[in-house]
Amino acid sequence: MTSKQQPRRFAPLAEGSSSEDALPKLKGIVFDVDGTLCEPQTYMFKLMRDGVGVPPGEDILEYIYTLTDSEQEVAMSKIRAIEREAMSLQTAQPGLVQLMDYIDSKSIPKGICTRNFDAPVAHLLEKFLPASHFHPIVTRDFRPPKPAPDGILHIAASMGCVKEQEGQKKGDADQFIMVGDSIDDMTAGYRAGAATVLLVNPVNAHLAEHEHTDLCIGRLDELIGILEKGFVGRVKADEEGDELRERAETVLKQGKAESSS
Ligand SMILES: [Mg+2]
Repeated sequence: MTSKQQPRRFAPLAEGSSSEDALPKLKGIVFDVDGTLCEPQTYMFKLMRDGVGVPPGEDILEYIYTLTDSEQEVAMSKIRAIEREAMSLQTAQPGLVQLMDYIDSKSIPKGICTRNFDAPVAHLLEKFLPASHFHPIVTRDFRPPKPAPDGILHIAASMGCVKEQEGQKKGDADQFIMVGDSIDDMTAGYRAGAATVLLVNPVNAHLAEHEHTDLCIGRLDELIGILEKGFVGRVKADEEGDELRERAETVLKQGKAESSS
């Protein structure tokens, strides 16, 4: 992972940019789906929790994976039905098409890392971005899910970005950007070594100052100007401080589940 003492920077994508040759080049962008490519459909999660009977404070998928095989099947089919219904109501985020057209014009590879099922993701891409290419697309079947960095590292490796670590080749996302709307997106990106961009909405505004967030945008196409001039993240606190805070947050977040298990 790169040091967080310096702001994350990437070379400008604008044509004719010359003075920034020393800056790292952006090698790929990874997007979350719900709340990032489309308007948030967070009501889905309450329907899922109620439908499956997920105890408060527990993760929906993690809870389902603790059930017996036959119970898992029933729970997953309920989840899929809720997602299918929500799929028909998907609305693109403002600036979605403009941003993807821009990224494509610069030949920057794009991937998707989401906890959604395949069907709503495929539906969204076909409906709003039929000419745009995302590969790979990491969905619910991929484990471990965000906030683990594995999905993003897998995407980086699939795009040919790898580094040797402990004698093994691993995905290298140091020159990637993760764009999302939740703490899981910011933390997964941070842990993968990527720069992170938060698409701010009224519900997630508190994450703007989170140490895993490098930059905030209010609309997707705001990223165009940022990439043109060269991405610059916020200055971060030192690594040790980050780790301490991260641990504290994890304990706070999971305290209930841990104490009851
Ligand atoms: Mg999201």
